[in-house]
Amino acid sequence: MALARGYAATDASKPLQPFTFERREPREDDVVISIKYSGICHSDIHQARNEWGNSVFPMVPGHEIAGIVTAVGSKVSKFKVGDRVGVGCFVDSCTTCASRDVDLEQYMPGLVVTYNGTEADGKTPTQGGYSDFIVVKEGYVLSIPENLPFEATAPLLCAGITLYSPLRNWGAGPGKKVAVVGMGGLGHMGVKLAHAMGADVTVLSQSLSKKEDGLKLGADHYYATADAETFTKLAGTFDLILCTVSAEIDWNAYLGLLKVDGTLVLLGIPEKPVPVHAFSLVPSRRSIAGSMIGSIKETQEMLDFCGEHNIVSEIELIRMDQVNEAYERVIKSDVRYRFVIDMATL
Ligand code: NAP
Ligand code: ZN
Repeated sequence: MALARGYAATDASKPLQPFTFERREPREDDVVISIKYSGICHSDIHQARNEWGNSVFPMVPGHEIAGIVTAVGSKVSKFKVGDRVGVGCFVDSCTTCASRDVDLEQYMPGLVVTYNGTEADGKTPTQGGYSDFIVVKEGYVLSIPENLPFEATAPLLCAGITLYSPLRNWGAGPGKKVAVVGMGGLGHMGVKLAHAMGADVTVLSQSLSKKEDGLKLGADHYYATADAETFTKLAGTFDLILCTVSAEIDWNAYLGLLKVDGTLVLLGIPEKPVPVHAFSLVPSRRSIAGSMIGSIKETQEMLDFCGEHNIVSEIELIRMDQVNEAYERVIKSDVRYRFVIDMATL
């Protein structure tokens, strides 16, 4: 066991504070990673504040991890000391489940999430990336392309893959009209990735305040959802709508923006059930779906795609002691577009 330092939520109503905890002794298939940068995902806030009702405290959040390998176990073959690596939303999975063969381990019941979860031993709590180092099984560690600026790659490990996977699954590319709802951490990555795949990209944001940025990042069109005319003007337009909003919105109005056979994919997770009228779906054979992060194989594919296309996140680099203030700003949609903690400031 080695002592790690980090920041933890000790209770749903308290700010995060310095925290020391034990990491496991590295095993033969483990990689030890000195964490350099850790992104702040809105899911960190949902969980640190127990908004999903499944939080276990104390909790060290963080599942957008970029770091450097400092040691490897005797059976590790893919990584060596000094490599630039990433860790995303999960650090183990049920390897006996058939889904592993089709690279869908993120949907398996045995998934071990990076924090607020329990390791495969069934008892040790997992702790995340707002910390100085982490020990992860080789099979769950990703390679970060050398050409990308390191700090801005951390958000690819969750925000990047969460948008990449549905864009690929629903065939985004030339000739396809894709809308991204919410120009936040997830949303701005969706704009960059869909643009790089060749799709025609529209941002649907609450206001036009981030329009200039959206167009610069690759959006072809940008509309305010506060303007009711947006919904009449764009009715029946999109093949695919990726919704990153976790607030309650008028789902039927968004479904009305889909073409025949179009799909609305939920990425944000609203607390309440999503009310959908049959008339929003039936007359145009529309679908509503959900998607969660991506497999390890697909996450590596996404990182390589980002390396080829020079795609990283737009970030605000902060000190560790600014994390609580950053949470408040994320909640107010006041982040351009992802906070990343410089772990050297821990
Ligand atoms: P974020 O940076 O806060 O972005 C969310 C965006 O939603 C905001 O920037 C804002 O965009 C829009 N929004 C906020 N409040 C709204 C409201 N009341 N009405 C309409 N739009 C609103 O959060 P994020 O990190 O991108 O995460 C978004 C959601 O995805 C969270 O619920 C998170 O837990 C979830 N998530 C899911 C997965 C998955 O695998 N499915 C992975 C990661 C995160 P505008 O200012 O442009 O309107
Ligand atoms: Zn996340």
